[in-house]
Amino acid sequence: MSDKIWLSSPHMGGNELTYIHEAFDTNWVAPLGPNVNGFENDLENFLGATHHVAALSAGTAALHLALIQCGVVAGDEVICQSMTFSASANPITYQGALPVFVDSEPTTWNLCPLALEEAIVDRIAKGKKPKAIIAVHLYGMPYKVDEVMAVAHKYEIPVIEDAAESLGSTYKGQPSGTYGTYGVLSFNGNKIITTSGGGALVCPSPETKDKVVFLATQARDNAPHYQHSEIGFNYRMSNIVAGIGRGQMEVLNDRIAARRSMHDFYLDLFKDIDGVTVFTEPSADFYSNHWLSAILIDPALAGKTREEVRLAFLEDDIESRPLWKPMHLQPVFENSPYYGGNIAEGLFDQGLCLPSGSNLSDNDRLRITTKINELFGK
Ligand SMILES: *Cc1c(COP(=O)(O)O)cnc(C)c1O
Repeated sequence: MSDKIWLSSPHMGGNELTYIHEAFDTNWVAPLGPNVNGFENDLENFLGATHHVAALSAGTAALHLALIQCGVVAGDEVICQSMTFSASANPITYQGALPVFVDSEPTTWNLCPLALEEAIVDRIAKGKKPKAIIAVHLYGMPYKVDEVMAVAHKYEIPVIEDAAESLGSTYKGQPSGTYGTYGVLSFNGNKIITTSGGGALVCPSPETKDKVVFLATQARDNAPHYQHSEIGFNYRMSNIVAGIGRGQMEVLNDRIAARRSMHDFYLDLFKDIDGVTVFTEPSADFYSNHWLSAILIDPALAGKTREEVRLAFLEDDIESRPLWKPMHLQPVFENSPYYGGNIAEGLFDQGLCLPSGSNLSDNDRLRITTKINELFGK
């Protein structure tokens, strides 16, 4: 029996344990310390020094604090891309607000600017202007930044950029995580770099970062005793976990290159197979980290459904997964409004994510190639 080929597994760089040992040697075993500050600096240098990064316990925590910073309170409405992981939408409900879901457009699989404007106009007509827009760079692919930002500016609604999957992607040369009012990063185990679990919020100013750190550390007022005038959270990143992050930042550029070369591998593998298209940047403005490589399988042309392909892979211990099931189709969000057509639904029906890790071997690629050629009769 051969080893399992995973969709996306952790890939250590080598120096992570050095930073963790430093934390033990100096007894910084706490949710603050030199690794937390160092990791934040590394991220700020990577994104461009005008951004201010708060390291947090998870991307989900970063989304929650971004919503609070945008003033979202009970009874508000927040627009969210429907085609995404549930963590993009869940924090809206933590605030007692209502998610309003919007369809994707077919080239980036992300927020459709036309459906977005339709949603805003209709919510305003119904009496409530949305408090924020959560836009996602799915699988590393930047959304149509200029078009989405134009709509957001027109109606003066802040954008929370969910860049959990897109660290290292750019649009017109600008790093993802830096176009919105706030940018959300994740370092969960399956992301392009990982701290085992963790996240960060990219903030627009030193003051907003300070406020986010204040909220993430139980909102303690400046007093000798514990004094509180706001509700706080325990959302700060641990200094141990941040040590993993510092080691991972040393290899981030290598990880991006390796994920992108997996995408090139699939472009080549599927180039002569009818009915299968590899998810690719629509123009040179878009540069994806290709966190996950994904394909669309048109059963009428390919002679196979995406589910048949997934099960065939599974027989050979190769992991693959359907795209995110859109939030407006999830039972838990059945009472949320939805705007748009059936683009996201169609992508879900035909889309499959393929093994994409930066640590896949030539032998892994050979097993994938053999399986694909067998399946599509080459
Ligand atoms: C992973 C992910 C998150 C959540 O990040 P965590 O660190 O796991 O909380 C949010 N949004 C998207 C699109 C993600 O893929």
